[in-house]
Amino acid sequence: MESPHLFPTTIAGSLPKPGWLAETDKLWPQWRQEGEALVAAKQDATLLWLKSQEDAGIDIVTEGEQSRQHFVHGFLEAVDGIDFANKVKMGIRNNRYDAMVPQVTGPLRLKGRVHQMEARFARAHTQHKLKFTLPGPMTIVDTVADRYYGDKVKMAMAFAELINTEARALLADGVDVIQIDEPAFNVYTDDVIDWGIDALHRAIDGLTCTTACHICYGYGIQANLDWKKTLGSEWRQYETIFPALAKSRVQQVSLECAHSKVPLSLIGLLKGKDVLVGVIDVASNVVETPEEVADTIGRALEFVPAARLYPCTNCGMAPMDRGIALKKLQALGAGAALARERYR
Ligand code: ZN
Repeated sequence: MESPHLFPTTIAGSLPKPGWLAETDKLWPQWRQEGEALVAAKQDATLLWLKSQEDAGIDIVTEGEQSRQHFVHGFLEAVDGIDFANKVKMGIRNNRYDAMVPQVTGPLRLKGRVHQMEARFARAHTQHKLKFTLPGPMTIVDTVADRYYGDKVKMAMAFAELINTEARALLADGVDVIQIDEPAFNVYTDDVIDWGIDALHRAIDGLTCTTACHICYGYGIQANLDWKKTLGSEWRQYETIFPALAKSRVQQVSLECAHSKVPLSLIGLLKGKDVLVGVIDVASNVVETPEEVADTIGRALEFVPAARLYPCTNCGMAPMDRGIALKKLQALGAGAALARERYR
């Protein structure tokens, strides 16, 4: 996509919710308001983060996922055929951690629009390019208990259909980039080849805006930190899935890079794609310096052309401290500005 300068910055998607909107430092926070007051609080928080991103020099902004409790369940709440009242405990991401998940009990259908309010609200309040994130079919399937379809792929395709319906409506709302979040791609790498890309294609079918896919090693929660310790000295999951993504119709791939053990050469497998390089670690409260961010950009430049490099965060910042997240946004903006001077 065209941009005003080299290294346009963006974020993976989510940002922490202020304490007056929801519980803080949690992945599944409870709302602190109800009814109209909750809608107003979500909009206030959205405004706050739009302004903070603009001030920090983030070029392609998001609404920070301020209107959804969790990146997967926020979507599922708008789907018929799901029993939210009776959640069950299930090991997710290949049993990496337990989550209380809703059950699929009937045919899946959208009840109506999922993210219309926040998408239109954000569009009305920023002139920047606006990205909107949606959970991917494989990740959703890994975050619900199936009591109806009895076939993972069939259920994934049913979800992909719903994602596509909402994505097309978001496009009409004025969104510039639709990003499908697929952290599960890094867990079920063989399934990505077998059916994950097909489901992704179904989800982005017919979209005329820029499309992206985010694949990471998860939020900075303890279960993920423990999992990363088991992955060895080099994380090579991307090696299996990137060639398939390079051949896919998605235009941008968002990946984890800062402080990770991903060999940077694997980025080279994404020829022809825009690469959203994670230069901000979301699993650490230590704020990167602009120099550090520019250094990471410099290392990635060995494997991706400058015109295709978009500095980004490793993953969403939802469970982080709000003040630290703000400082990390500023480091991202300042680091990209420094890189523009260094590597022009
Ligand atoms: Zn992520």
